[in-house]
Amino acid sequence: MRTILCLALSAASVLAGDLTDRLQLTKTRVLEGTAPRFDERFVLADASAQPGRRFTEFSGDVSGRYIGALSALAMESGERYTVLDRVVDGAIRVQQPDGHFGAWLSAGPVGDSDMATLWGNGRMLIGLLEYYALTHRAEALGAARKLGDFLVRAAPRFNAADVREAYNHEKFAVGYICWTSALEGVVELYRVTKDARYLALARSIAERTGRHPAQHSHGFLTTVRGVVALYRVTDEARYLEQAETLWAGVIESGNVLTQGAVPEMFAPRALRDEGCSEADWMRLSLELWEITRQPRYLEQAELTLYNEMAMNQFHTGDYGHHTLTNEGIAEPFAHAWWCCTFHGLRALVATFQRVFHGQAGALYYDLPADGRGAVEGLAVRADSELEHKATVRLSVVEADGRAHALRVRMPQWATAVELSLGVGRPLEAPAEGGYRSASRVWQTGDVVTVRYAMRTRVVKREDQAAVFHGPWLLAVDESASPSFFDEPASENQVELVEQDGHPQLEAAPQTADLAGRFAVPVAHFVLHYRPGGYPMQPQTALLRPIAEYTAGPDTNKLWFWLPLVGEQGRRP
Ligand SMILES: [Zn+2]
Repeated sequence: MRTILCLALSAASVLAGDLTDRLQLTKTRVLEGTAPRFDERFVLADASAQPGRRFTEFSGDVSGRYIGALSALAMESGERYTVLDRVVDGAIRVQQPDGHFGAWLSAGPVGDSDMATLWGNGRMLIGLLEYYALTHRAEALGAARKLGDFLVRAAPRFNAADVREAYNHEKFAVGYICWTSALEGVVELYRVTKDARYLALARSIAERTGRHPAQHSHGFLTTVRGVVALYRVTDEARYLEQAETLWAGVIESGNVLTQGAVPEMFAPRALRDEGCSEADWMRLSLELWEITRQPRYLEQAELTLYNEMAMNQFHTGDYGHHTLTNEGIAEPFAHAWWCCTFHGLRALVATFQRVFHGQAGALYYDLPADGRGAVEGLAVRADSELEHKATVRLSVVEADGRAHALRVRMPQWATAVELSLGVGRPLEAPAEGGYRSASRVWQTGDVVTVRYAMRTRVVKREDQAAVFHGPWLLAVDESASPSFFDEPASENQVELVEQDGHPQLEAAPQTADLAGRFAVPVAHFVLHYRPGGYPMQPQTALLRPIAEYTAGPDTNKLWFWLPLVGEQGRRP
């Protein structure tokens, strides 16, 4: 009886929605996936730089990320993973006497292998500290301190101007970012220990942070997240200014693509995406939103969450790489189990923590995703049916019998946001500062249904157009519309209909099965086009969110920059 009750309670507490499904997919992949299987030996191979699998020279990279991602997930979900404790114990056993993990630094001039060692040790430091935040195990903090001391001793060598200069050009994965990306761990170590040496180290790294063309974006963005962390612990405005300026610079330099992707390598070498970079961009934007409450940060995070971050996730639960083309994405692809899978999982946890926020006694519902939020006297859960019904259900799970404001964001991608209470009873909620604000005495069990009217938006560049519906970027894909990709597809001509300046889309018949678990049937449309090879016979294709890539074949090809016809933009 007791078991049945517990099961019922835990089932009831699982949120319904795309974010929960996506988290579940990658969590299952990390814990139970087999290609490759993340068993202790496999994970720990880079904590001791043992050859046998790819990238073990990035000492502590997979192991540190594994520890960090599962610790953050355990913290959020309340679950415990015994394998996590074993991996941490295993890592601590192979920590070198001088505090570092994996390969030894060279004795002579700084070489590429030194950078690989530093990179992984940076991942291990934050991983151990996320584990310490979860468990408060003294051994984990002890290991993190030893590693921090190692970095303090290494600092004069790697902070040197000639090393910075040499490794800020053409070094990519073993670039200077291998040193600076340790920042988030160093700051966290200072926050926990208040040892001034770690703060001094953090300040010295922040000073050396900068963006340059063809840089490894994941390393850069991880460093900027470290600058934000430094602002949080010091409360010094200059670090927030630095992070905001660096964030804006990524956009101004053209490195945030239409689908909310930051390329693995910054322009002019934007060749493919990377799950880690997307995860970092989303986390950085969410953190800046949390600190400043400037909508531009939330809007960027949301663009990435519903588009690139969703599309980047493979049906296996892995995150990784896709090739960027002039029209969208194509092969080859890579399941980057050595980094992106863990970093993607870590970012999904960070997203859950920002679905709601509390401010001055009011509860704000920010992202139209599933999640939980509370302020004193009011707790609400959100179950999202955005993809299927354009609605979200907000259920009051705790109320203290006093009046509280529940505020629901009105995103720019919606033409209207309507609230109703119970069975379709409109709820008075005046617009206020970008939110619909409903103030009342809430009862436990109250259910507010939020309905979003989706806006269709067309973005044009030269003779191409990209179409958004609601938060989703739409594409034609080879799996659902193979004929669209017949030669010469580059000469296809798409017809977009506008009425009174507003783009009009034609709803597609029921095709939800196509994308299974990750379907977005509210954004399926018919695209009319003239094939390049036989323009006298107009054809139709399915236009659907790039987010649906997840359930489809890895080899799928997506075109979201559509070639326009005639006067709509195409050159004669
Ligand atoms: Zn990656």
